[in-house]
Amino acid sequence: DGEVVHCVGCGAAVQTTDKNALGYTPESALKKGLENGEVYCQRCFRLRHYNEIAPVSLSDDDFLKLLTSISDTDSLIVYVVDIFDVNGSLIPGLHRFVGNNPVLLVGNKLDILPKALKHNKVKDWLRQQANAAGIWPIGVELISAKTNFDIDHLLDQIEKYRQGKDVYVVGVTNVGKSTLINSIVRQSTGIKELITTSRFPGTTLDRIDIPLNDGHNLVDTPGIIQPEQMAHHLSGKELNLVTPQKTIKPKGYQLNPGQTLFFAGVARFDYNSGDKRHGFTVYAENNLFIHRTKLENADEFYATHVGSFLAPPTEDQKADFPALEPHEFKSTEKSDLVIEGLGWVTIPEGVSVTGWAPKGVSVLMRPAMI
Ligand code: GDP
Repeated sequence: DGEVVHCVGCGAAVQTTDKNALGYTPESALKKGLENGEVYCQRCFRLRHYNEIAPVSLSDDDFLKLLTSISDTDSLIVYVVDIFDVNGSLIPGLHRFVGNNPVLLVGNKLDILPKALKHNKVKDWLRQQANAAGIWPIGVELISAKTNFDIDHLLDQIEKYRQGKDVYVVGVTNVGKSTLINSIVRQSTGIKELITTSRFPGTTLDRIDIPLNDGHNLVDTPGIIQPEQMAHHLSGKELNLVTPQKTIKPKGYQLNPGQTLFFAGVARFDYNSGDKRHGFTVYAENNLFIHRTKLENADEFYATHVGSFLAPPTEDQKADFPALEPHEFKSTEKSDLVIEGLGWVTIPEGVSVTGWAPKGVSVLMRPAMI
C-alpha cells in the first residue's frame, strides 16, 4: 500500500531492487515477512541465521558521514586493502578522517602474490604506498582472509594495538573485508551473537558489532565503492576470468619496441621505445589470454578481434564494454605499470610504454613491487 517497511534488525528501509544497497530483501522474503509481521532485510537475515556478514556499500556522501563519525571516536582503525589492487583499495580522504586514531593497515589476498616474495619486503612496500597516500600506519599486516593465513596473528596485533579501545574495520568494496570479518567471527570463540546496533550518527546506516572480551566491540563498517576498479566494468563470469583466483605465476616476455601485448579484450600494453629484447614481466590471472602482436597494427587488430579471439568481453557484451583508452608513461627506474584490478607489467628503467584500459579504469605507474 505504498508504506515504507523497515527491517526489524537494522531499521533500514526495505527495498527489493538493489541487491548491493542497504535494506535489500528478495520479493518472496518480503511477502513472507509481511505475513509474519516481521521483515528482515537479507543482510540481517543472514546475520541472524548464519552469523554471516554480507557486504553492503554506500554512497560517497553516507561514507563521508560514516568516516566523520569514526574520527569522533577514540579507537583503533583497521584498514583493509587488497594487495593485488592497492590503488583501487584507497579510501579517498581517509587520512583527513582518522584524526589521531591509529591505523593498522591490513594487506589482504596474500595468497595471490607469487610465493617467492619476501613478506617483509611486501610490508615495506605497502607502507610506502600508504605513506604516499598520506596514511601513516602504526603497523602493517599481511593476511589471506580466504585461506585464513595469519588471521590469528592479526587478532593478536589488533589486541596489542587497540589498548582496550573499540576497533573499526574499514575498506572499499571487493578488498575482502566481509570475508575477513566472517573469518574473525568463526575463529573467535565466545561470540554468542552478532548484533546490528545503533546507527552511525548522521547516516542511515547500521553498524555490526562483534563483541570483544572486555565490553568493547569490533565494528564492521560498510564498504565504499571505488568506481575505478575493474570489478565495476565487467560482470560476474568475465570478472572471474580476469581476477586472479590463485597464486600468480609471473610471465616473462622479451619485447622489442613496437610490440604490443593484448590481455584478452580488456586491456593492452604497448612497448613504444627503449632497448631491443628488453625483459618485461606480467602479473595477472594465470589463465588470462595474452596475445603478442605488432604495435602498428594493434588498433585494427583489436577492432577486428574484440569479442571473439580477444575475449572477454564476449561477442554480446562488446557493444556495452567501454573503449580502451591509452595512458603513456616513461620509466626512470624499474617500475610497475598497473591496470587497476587486472594486474601489472614490471618494466625496466628508461622505456616508454602505453597501458590501455577500459575508460574509467585507472592505469598508473609505481616503483616495482618485486
Ligand atoms: P568486500 O566487498 O570487501 O566485503 O569483499 P568480499 O569479502 O565480498 O570479497 C570480494 C572478493 O574477493 C570475493 O570474490 C572473495 O572471494 C575474494 N577474496 C576475499 N578475500 C580473499 C583472499 O584472501 N584471497 C583471495 N584470493 N580472494 C579473496
